[in-house]
Order: sequence, then C-alpha cells, then structure tokens
Amino acid sequence: MPISPMLPILDALAEHDQELLRLDRAIEAARSKPGAARTAAATAEASLSAVRARLEANRTATRGLEKQIAEHRARKATAVRALEQGLGNPDAAGRQIATADAAIDDAETKQLELMEDADQIARALAAAERALAESTAAVPTVTAAAAAELVTLRAAREATATHRASAAASLPAEVREKYDLMRARRGTSVSRIESGICRACRMAVAPQQEVEIASGLVHTCRGCGRWLVPVLPKG
Ligand SMILES: [Zn+2]
Repeated sequence: MPISPMLPILDALAEHDQELLRLDRAIEAARSKPGAARTAAATAEASLSAVRARLEANRTATRGLEKQIAEHRARKATAVRALEQGLGNPDAAGRQIATADAAIDDAETKQLELMEDADQIARALAAAERALAESTAAVPTVTAAAAAELVTLRAAREATATHRASAAASLPAEVREKYDLMRARRGTSVSRIESGICRACRMAVAPQQEVEIASGLVHTCRGCGRWLVPVLPKG
C-alpha cells in the first residue's frame, strides 16, 4: 500500500492557513479597538452636550414663564387697585382680573411641567456625565489592552507563518504552486470528506476513492478540484 506523506502535509497547510486567517481577523479587530473606544467617548460627549442644551432650554422657558406670571400679576394688581379706588369701569376691571387669574393658572401649570422635565433632565445629565467619565477613562485602558493583545497575536501569527512555511517547503514545488493557486482562486485548497461527500462543494466521493484516501492516497474532488482529506479524530 503506497502511503503518501503529502496528505497530512496538505491537511496541516490548510489548518495553518485557516489559523492565519483567524489571526489576521483578530489582529484587525484588536487594531480597531482604540478607535472604537475614542468614538464611544466622542459619542458620550455629544450626548452630554445635547442634555446640557435641553437643560438650558428648560431654564430659558422657566425664566420666560416667570416673566409672564409677573406681568399678569402686575396687570391683576392694577385692576384690583382700580376696583378698590372706584376708578374706571368695574366690569372691565373684573374681566381683567379673571383673565389674569386664568393666565397665571395656565403659566403655573406649564411651570410645574417644566419642573418635572428639569428633574428628568438632571437625572439624564448625571447619567451622561457618568457615561462620559467612564468612556473617557476607558480609552487609555482599552488602548493599552489592545496593544498587549496585538503583541500576543502577532507573535502567534509569526509562529504559525513559520510552521506554514516549513509545511509548504516539504511539498513538491508543483503541488505547492497548485495549492497556492487554488487557494487564491477559491479560498481553500483542501476539503474534508464528511459522510461520503466533499464538505466544500457537496459532491459525493466514490466509496473506493474514500477508502484510498483513508489509506493515505492523494485524490482531488471531482466537483471542486480540492484535495480531499478524511475527517480524522483529533488527537
Ligand atoms: Zn469538492
């Protein structure tokens, strides 16, 4: 039975390539973490500004109402004095007092609503200030953690690249070239046989072929052209 050492090497090469892909994604993710933390802090700052603007609008509206109430009270006092002193039309003075009372009632109701809003805004302000403090403090922490993570990931990538290179070097040049070409075109060059079919393209593998592959012979898939490797128990 001719046992080819190529099959486990192709298998290992595919594993290394998958690991390199995973590490590259992890490196990319780690690299983006400091920027994401800075963005979160900037977002928190914008939220705080928005809450401060709401607070300012609430204060302005409250001052406006206070001014209106003072004006209505002044008009009411004038009418009361006119009545007391028997000046002018008493009916008109009475209407003026009633109108002023209604306007004061209305303004005081709005004042209460603004006070309730102010309570809610105060809570939102406290939360926004806390969020800004936390997200700002997180920036250097996240940046340092990401830098440490990158060191680890890059070392792992380096080690995997070294293993990959030595696996590739032990293959015949034409096999190595075919592997790289197929990988460049289709993402992977090796596929596992699972329940009698190629995992990559779902094409059935002839039973005889599967037996030969299990014994170490090299076969490519009839469907996708990838080298077929059996699913082996990990050990
Ligand atoms: Zn296939």
